[in-house]
Amino acid sequence: MNKTSYFRPEIDRMSGYVPGEQPKNIANLTKLNTNENPYPPTPKLEAVLRDFELDRLRRYPDPMSDAFRDAVARRWGVPREMVLAGNGSDDVLNLVFRAFSSPELSVAFPEPTYSLYPILAAMQGASVRRIALDPDTFAMPDDFAAQAAGANLLLIARPNAPTGNSFPLARIEEVCRNFDGIVLIDEAYADFAADHCMELAKKYPNVIVSRTFSKSYALAGLRLGYAVAAEPVIAGLMKLKDSYNLDALTQTIGLVAFEDEDYLREIVAKIKAERKRLRDKLAAFDFELIASEANFLFAAPPGGGGEALFGYLRELGIVVRYFPGPATGRFVRITVGTPEQDDRLLAAVADFLH
Ligand SMILES: *Cc1c(COP(=O)(O)O)cnc(C)c1O
Repeated sequence: MNKTSYFRPEIDRMSGYVPGEQPKNIANLTKLNTNENPYPPTPKLEAVLRDFELDRLRRYPDPMSDAFRDAVARRWGVPREMVLAGNGSDDVLNLVFRAFSSPELSVAFPEPTYSLYPILAAMQGASVRRIALDPDTFAMPDDFAAQAAGANLLLIARPNAPTGNSFPLARIEEVCRNFDGIVLIDEAYADFAADHCMELAKKYPNVIVSRTFSKSYALAGLRLGYAVAAEPVIAGLMKLKDSYNLDALTQTIGLVAFEDEDYLREIVAKIKAERKRLRDKLAAFDFELIASEANFLFAAPPGGGGEALFGYLRELGIVVRYFPGPATGRFVRITVGTPEQDDRLLAAVADFLH
């Protein structure tokens, strides 16, 4: 027993992903920190859960999740072979990093963005190129494509997290057309946005678009996501996935939730209306606000004390998210809640500013 560690050196060097807090012991909690939906998932799921036959848990689930993939394929007008189902979109991201990054194959993404990307890159021992976004607006720099060139995998969260802004579709298409590698467009928040990139996944052989049920479908506890890409890309990712990456319950629930488009539209509309109301109120308090196409606002109090505001709110049981660092430290990220939740936040913000 002489070795100090049996791990691959990459694993020893990396730190694990730290998910947003799921507080357990806060009285009077208002939880606006992980972009969960403030509304419940479609009520159609009640009957699904009640009628689910226990015997189905005795058998293995469909390894290919075909019923769910067929529904996704119909929605987007693609063959089933262009759809991969994931145990959350983090499962999709994991597969994509394992497939397309290595010590020889580097990764690029904007900075700031979803903080899971550098961790997945570190697991692969892949080097990372961070492309700084505009420090005021978090827009893509003009030379974005040039900065990404040479990487084998480019990640673009659109709308971006934690900033909430989107990038122009035409710019994204230009990047996809010219990039000599895989572009993963992470559309975790696309249901809250004005447009999306699904057509690019149909048009370009190097584009993967991923979606999640955790935000707009109010099913973060379920773990369901999917990706759409050209058939050879999906076929390659299928080789890497867990044989049974979606359990039987998730496949059943996911299909029913996905098919209830009216309910999705209804709760997304409520959240978008509330996003505007919350934004206007914070603007009246002189907050700096990044234009949001997601279900959260990236908001800096006057003077830029993001960390102080975060701490003040937390003492009151109002939990938002804070991202330290030069680009993000003046902001807090606030999930759009119900009007009642947001009123509580706004009252606390008013006290903070006095
Ligand atoms: C929430 C989020 C995800 C993760 O979604 P899961 O399906 O819950 O794994 C992926 N990407 C971004 C940018 C997110 O904000």
